[in-house]
Amino acid sequence: MVPAWIGAGVAKADLAALLAQQAQSKNRVRCTACKFLGDAPPEDATTLSEALSDPEMSAGMIARALQAYGVTVSPSAISRHRRECR
Ligand SMILES: [Zn+2]
Repeated sequence: MVPAWIGAGVAKADLAALLAQQAQSKNRVRCTACKFLGDAPPEDATTLSEALSDPEMSAGMIARALQAYGVTVSPSAISRHRRECR
């Protein structure tokens, strides 16, 4: 039995297919941080990837530094990149 809170109709969808769809769309659309890592000069891309893996650097700090560098990016985009991108 599907619990009532899941919602009729939605619960009928194939969860595995929905997850696969999400995984695909993540790979297709690159986030701002991923774009920077791919397109910026190599030394700057390396600097960013070091900052991203440094727990001392908050998403806000990284976003503000990137904004000063000339990249329009929000702290939430940095957080999401840390959570969801590889
Ligand atoms: Zn990313």
